[in-house]
Amino acid sequence: MKLNLKDTFNIELPADKNLTNTRRQVLDACYSFVTPKKPKKPSLIHFSDELAKEIGLEDYTLSKEFLEVFSGTTTSPNTNPFAMCYGGHQFGNWAGQLGDGRAINLFEIEHNDKHWALQLKGAGETPYSRTADGLAVLRSSIREHLCSEAMYYLRVPTTRSLALMLSGDEVLRDVLYNGNPDYEKGAIVTRAAPSFIRFGNFQILASRKDFKNLKLLADYTIKHFYPEITITGKEKYLEFYQEVVNRTLKMVIEWQRVGFVHGVMNTDNMSILGLTIDYGPYGWLEDFNPDWTPNTTDSQNRRYRFGNQPDIALWNLVQLGNALYPLIGDIPAMEKILEDYNTLFDQQYHQMMKNKLGLEENYDNILHDDLQAVLKLTETDMTIFYRNLSSVLKTDFAENALEKISNAFYKPGEIKEKIKDNWIKWFNLYIERLGREYDLDAIRKEKMNLVNPKFVLRNYMAQLAIDAADKEDYSVINELYSMLKNPYDEQPHNEKWFAKRPDWARHKVGCSMLSCSS
Ligand code: AMP
Ligand code: MG
Repeated sequence: MKLNLKDTFNIELPADKNLTNTRRQVLDACYSFVTPKKPKKPSLIHFSDELAKEIGLEDYTLSKEFLEVFSGTTTSPNTNPFAMCYGGHQFGNWAGQLGDGRAINLFEIEHNDKHWALQLKGAGETPYSRTADGLAVLRSSIREHLCSEAMYYLRVPTTRSLALMLSGDEVLRDVLYNGNPDYEKGAIVTRAAPSFIRFGNFQILASRKDFKNLKLLADYTIKHFYPEITITGKEKYLEFYQEVVNRTLKMVIEWQRVGFVHGVMNTDNMSILGLTIDYGPYGWLEDFNPDWTPNTTDSQNRRYRFGNQPDIALWNLVQLGNALYPLIGDIPAMEKILEDYNTLFDQQYHQMMKNKLGLEENYDNILHDDLQAVLKLTETDMTIFYRNLSSVLKTDFAENALEKISNAFYKPGEIKEKIKDNWIKWFNLYIERLGREYDLDAIRKEKMNLVNPKFVLRNYMAQLAIDAADKEDYSVINELYSMLKNPYDEQPHNEKWFAKRPDWARHKVGCSMLSCSS
């Protein structure tokens, strides 16, 4: 494989001097060198053809070398794999050192002026594995692989996934944490992103008062990933903080647009580049319920529920602010950034909702609030509702507009009396506003269909891919991958996937309920 190697992280930042792969606290360093575990019998299940091309690896995807390097069987010449040291707040509590417990960074490459770090997930233990095994199972790896790519094509900032491999090893997991462990197939995903640095990389250094390395890490991050920041002194770190706030905000707005619930927004799962990272017990909003979270580990408090994601992002940004404070030293300026978050969020959320509703001029909060209320009256599928809304015409009566979106209702029988009245009321308001819009119906429809996806990776769809893959049938993975590459297109041959969650998936593990076990 011809790789245009351009390592930076493991060259410019300090390494752990201890080279043994033993679990420990790693001090005075940003990472530890570690070699991936050799898998027993690796095999390639799927690779992302377009990403392979973007990275310049399209000629190698079916080669022995690709299989060996991206399964951790061999280490590429002149590369020094490593695991990062980071900490984090988990579910609101400081957890101390976490780190790449099962992620191993292989190398960085440059292609077509783009910089990529490639990382294996599930390639064995590292000094950060704590009490776990460093491995990943097939089901969670399929979910990560497909969803990373689906999010990319939805235009949501995200890390990518290049390849999905079976390791040939068996991995013991207790899916429901109820004392019923079982062996599952092990798998390895190759993730790709400009960098995998998280809020937690800064937090761990600040918590240890290692300000020398905190500064090194901030300088490194700015130099490579925020090159537009050119001022010096403390202002530089303040601007960096502002930019991370901006990017994080943008990412969360996009999550709210497509109905994505991350599920574990711990600060160790927050990318410093504002990318969606660590696809674990995530889920897609089917029934529009802002209180929903797929993560059973969080079912009590619902800290990471859909409607709470913007506030949690802010909470996490406050923690990042605490970590960067030693470099900035200006509390009023940092507070100002955080205070502005809500205003910025409101502006961008407003714009995003205007786009979803196809209203350039005549959108207002009443229309929004009434919609939120009416969507909650009866189970209503978010994706189908918004997609079908683009078919409503300026000349429609509320009754036929309602008919056009009725496919989104899980219990059509409930659309009568008061619920129906409320819907009619809302559609009267909406159609009245449509009538005042400049765009013709067809133009508006086109624009709306660019922000309201037709296809998302519904929770049950990933589960179908998993069930088939368990029987060595990878056709569903292939089918979903191809479809999710064009989520805004009509794709008549894929109409069967433009459907509400089937009833069997309502309370099924893996569909509506996901644990952190992976
Ligand atoms: P998560 O909440 O899944 O992002 O994981 C939190 C921490 O646990 C991170 O430091 C992970 O690297 C680590 N971790 C999760 N699963 C494993 C595993 N199977 N082996 C080792 N470390 C793990
Ligand atoms: Mg994580």
